[in-house]
Amino acid sequence: MTGDTVTGDSRAWRSALLARVIAEIESEIRQAWERFAVGLDVEPDSSEAVELAWLVADDPAAYDWRTVDGAIDRLSCPACGSRLTQGPAACETCEFHHRMRFGAREVDRRHVPPGNEHAVRVASAVARTRHRYSANARVGYELALPDLVAGDLPSTRQAQAGKALINKLTDDECDRVVSFAEVEELARGR
Ligand SMILES: [Zn+2]
Repeated sequence: MTGDTVTGDSRAWRSALLARVIAEIESEIRQAWERFAVGLDVEPDSSEAVELAWLVADDPAAYDWRTVDGAIDRLSCPACGSRLTQGPAACETCEFHHRMRFGAREVDRRHVPPGNEHAVRVASAVARTRHRYSANARVGYELALPDLVAGDLPSTRQAQAGKALINKLTDDECDRVVSFAEVEELARGR
């Protein structure tokens, strides 16, 4: 995958690595939705597809999370007019559908620790709706996402140790760091 995929993307990711990983995940999400719609003989960009997308967004437990996120990406929020879940943090309809999406199916890929797919799913959802989270909350997910996609899964102890270091950083630092090594360096001695 080349950097071209993020051209024209107004979102600024904390690192080129994260930008690349998000672009890959968004490509998988798009493909999952298109496969699902085409499998039902629905043209992915038609008005029928919008109706189908609402069915999926309203019943996430019946579908894989990439299909659910692909459906959500097709929808506008009836309350605030933004892309669904991307509206202001105060929009209750966006918040509702953002929370709902976590009910979708998460099937672990082969050769990864059990629970890896759940971690990928949560970290990517946080990164893709990062304005709904505090700087302190989103940094851990965003730094972990590339390793999770590569198949790693930190232990609870490792995750807690990372969180303890992140808690020593200011909000500005949280949004600036590009690696856990940098978090460790900033937190050292505090
Ligand atoms: Zn909204």
